[in-house]
Amino acid sequence: MARVFNFSAGPAALPEEVLKLAADEMLDWHGCGQSVMEMSHRGKEFISIAQAAEADLRELLAIPANYKVLFLQGGASLQFEMIPINLLRGKAAADYVHTGEWAKKAIKAAKTFCNVNTVASAEDKGFTYAPAQGDWKLTKDAAYVHYTANETIGGVEFNWVPETGDVPLVCDMSSNMLSRPVDVAKYGLIYAGAQKNIGPAGLTIVIVRDDLVGKAVPTPPAMLDYKTHADAESMYNTPPTYAIYIAGLVFQLLKRTGGLAAAEERNIAKANLLYDYLETTDFYRNPVAKGDRSRMNVPFTLKDAALDEEFLKGAKAKGMVQLKGHRSVGGMRASIYNAMPIEGVQTLVEYMKEFAAAKG
Ligand SMILES: *Cc1c(COP(=O)(O)O)cnc(C)c1O
Repeated sequence: MARVFNFSAGPAALPEEVLKLAADEMLDWHGCGQSVMEMSHRGKEFISIAQAAEADLRELLAIPANYKVLFLQGGASLQFEMIPINLLRGKAAADYVHTGEWAKKAIKAAKTFCNVNTVASAEDKGFTYAPAQGDWKLTKDAAYVHYTANETIGGVEFNWVPETGDVPLVCDMSSNMLSRPVDVAKYGLIYAGAQKNIGPAGLTIVIVRDDLVGKAVPTPPAMLDYKTHADAESMYNTPPTYAIYIAGLVFQLLKRTGGLAAAEERNIAKANLLYDYLETTDFYRNPVAKGDRSRMNVPFTLKDAALDEEFLKGAKAKGMVQLKGHRSVGGMRASIYNAMPIEGVQTLVEYMKEFAAAKG
C-alpha cells in the first residue's frame, strides 16, 4: 500500500526515511541481536542511543552548556503543572499570554499553584493573532512569563521572541520545536511533547536553564522535580526508550539535511504555497492575521460547511488524510510539520483548486 499524505496535528507524520531505518533495525539494532524496545535503559547500547540523541539535539538547537536537556514523559500537559511547581521559587504569581486553546490549558493548570496574570490576550479577536509585545502588561513580581509559540489548534505562531528582561521566559514549543532555529539563551525553559514535530508520543523534551533547577516547592514529589531528572540524566526511572531512539533518528536526519536553517526554508516554502493560494480565493478562508500565521498548522474553512464531508472524502481518495479541523474551530486543518514533504502540500493545493472550481 502506498503511504498517504498525513496532515494530522499529532501524533503526526514521521519522516519515511526514519521509519524505514527503524524498520531495518527493528529485530537487531547494530548487531546486538535485540530491538531497541527490548534493551535495558541502563545498558551501554541504550545509553549510547540516549547520549547521541541529546548531543544531536544540543547541536541542532545550539543549546548553551548552561542548559539541561531532559527527556521526560507526561506530555506538555504535565509540564503545565511542573512549570509552576519548579519555577515559582517562592513567588505568588506568574504571567501568562493567552493565545488560544493550549495557552488556556496552561493557564488553568497554573491557577492551581499561583495567581495567574493574563498579561496579554487575543480573545478579543477569537484568538486569531499573536498579541504584540507592546500590548503585554508584564508584572514586576512574576516568577516567569509563559507563552505558546505555536497554537496548534488556532494556527497562530509567534515569529518573534518576547523580551522579558530578568524574568525567565517559558515557552510551549510543542508544535513548532525544530521547525526553525531558536535562540535558546533567550529562554528560561522550553518544552515540547514530541508527537507533533519531533518523534513518537511518549517523549517530552524540556530544555531548562541550570539556575532554574533545584528550586521547586518544598518537598516536591520526586517525579515532578526537574532536579531529580537532571541529576539522573533523565534515567531516574525508565525513560520512553523507543521514543527517544526514534527522535534521535529524526535529529540525525535533520543534521544530514542542513540543520534547522534548512528545515525553516522548507517549512516557509510549504506554508507559502498554501497561504498564497488561500489569498487568491474566497472559497476557502483562514482567519489568522497575516504576520501571525502558523507555518505548522493551517486551519481553513470552506465557504459552505455543508461541503466539508465531501471535501474530506475527495481528499482521502487522493491519498490525503486527517484534514478535518479541530472540533472547536470546524472546517479543515492542514498540519504541515517537518515530515510533510512539499509534494504533500502541492497535492493538497491542487485538490483545493479542483474542488473550488467544481463547487464554487
Ligand atoms: C499537543 C499540544 C499540547 C498537549 O500535549 P500533550 O502531549 O497531549 O500533553 C500542549 N501544547 C501544544 C502547543 C500542543 O500542540
